[in-house]
Amino acid sequence: MTKTIIRECLALLPEGDGFKTAEADIVIEDGVIAAIEDAGKAKAGSGDRIIAGAERLVAPGLINAHSHCLSTFSSGAGDRLGHVSLIWKNQADIYNRPQDELYVSALLNGIEMIASGVTAVIDHYPEQNCRTEMVDPVARAYADLGLRATLGLRIWDRTYDDLDPTQIIGDDDELLEALARDNPFRPAPVDEIAAMCEETIAKWHGHRGLISIFPAPSNATRCTDDLLVMSHDIAEKHDLGVHTHLQETKIQRQVSMKYNGKPIVSHMEDLGILSRRWSMAHTVWVDDDEIGLLADRQAVPVHNPESNAKIHVGTSPVPKMLEAGVPVALGADGSSTNGNQNLFDAMTMAVLVPRILGTDKAGWPAAPEALTMATRNGAKAMLKDGEIGALAPGTRADIVLYDLTTPVLAPLNDAAQQLVFSERGQSVRTVIIDGRVVFEDGIYAFGDAAEVGRQAIEMREKQLGRNENLYRITRRLIAAQTEKMT
Ligand SMILES: [Zn+2]
Repeated sequence: MTKTIIRECLALLPEGDGFKTAEADIVIEDGVIAAIEDAGKAKAGSGDRIIAGAERLVAPGLINAHSHCLSTFSSGAGDRLGHVSLIWKNQADIYNRPQDELYVSALLNGIEMIASGVTAVIDHYPEQNCRTEMVDPVARAYADLGLRATLGLRIWDRTYDDLDPTQIIGDDDELLEALARDNPFRPAPVDEIAAMCEETIAKWHGHRGLISIFPAPSNATRCTDDLLVMSHDIAEKHDLGVHTHLQETKIQRQVSMKYNGKPIVSHMEDLGILSRRWSMAHTVWVDDDEIGLLADRQAVPVHNPESNAKIHVGTSPVPKMLEAGVPVALGADGSSTNGNQNLFDAMTMAVLVPRILGTDKAGWPAAPEALTMATRNGAKAMLKDGEIGALAPGTRADIVLYDLTTPVLAPLNDAAQQLVFSERGQSVRTVIIDGRVVFEDGIYAFGDAAEVGRQAIEMREKQLGRNENLYRITRRLIAAQTEKMT
């Protein structure tokens, strides 16, 4: 049995719905927090690893409940793009990627997250029709990093009505011919998708205790009822969650009205599938009735405040959802729609956006609520409530040690407030996931992070030369959307 003791640290512990700090020793055995004892009291045997906790705030790792590793090479490659242009640009960037590029892309995503205190992620992957062999390099990359990851297998069996380029450019021959040649959004049959999910679950779910596999509708409105029910049934059968994008844009709500005569959350309730298993990225265009249903069923919206703002899709009614008792989690979304994978930014935005909007002051989320969204509620999104997301005996040891001497944490007046408003990740010194030290003083256990960056630089050139047909569609969309905006 391997044992690690974090000796005499300042621990950020759960207290009711919030947090408290206490001087403590944290004992980790076989990947689990075995005990939290008074500082200096934990008994060490020979061979135990001791980590000095002096001048360290020890907190639960952050959970990025919505990310897309495919777009790590696309940071800084497009600003002021509308949703349709941006998603087609993503396709041009990521269509037909070789395995080594997928591996480096996922490594880069994980490297950025770990250094900024993220210990678990839901990665909604890929953006094209999923095959098990496309999952292999991503699962391998996260396992190699030692990062806890849920891979949501991105599936759909309807056309992408909300991203139809003919609605913006018009259906001229050039566009139709281009789409006939390369259309990454071709629907697949439900049986084929179900077989792929089963194969991928059998191959990767539970790998090294770190990797989980969820069925993950690309967007609930891009799926027939059969596919939504199939996703739910597979999740029930294997005790998994289901991840999806949900009513991120106004047009997606209109698509649901067209197919279902009602918004998608209400439709899912009618289908009998709405439950705590679902985590739903964005949930921007949801009304009061839908919020009531989300609360009743304890489904988990994943708020992505930076992405929402950057591509101007609208503002999620997070204060209302929290007030109704909906467990809202937090995500960064992909780096093409956000620019980073930093959950501190997401926490700050989550508390500031309602204040900027000037809505009811009583409903403003405070720092502890943002921290709860990024920890305990993230655990709910991963269907790991009580297993990760808090420093408590019996939970997996996903732990971050922050340096209390940095300008943003010294002096420490209030841990939750300073983590949410001051910290950006610069105080992260040690990251432990499932009891293993994966990052310490800038060094990653897996190997050389700079070398991964060098590989990404080389690969980006090849990537930009790969899908000229899709880049041409994207350029036309950007031109058309720009004209409409001006
Ligand atoms: Zn997304």
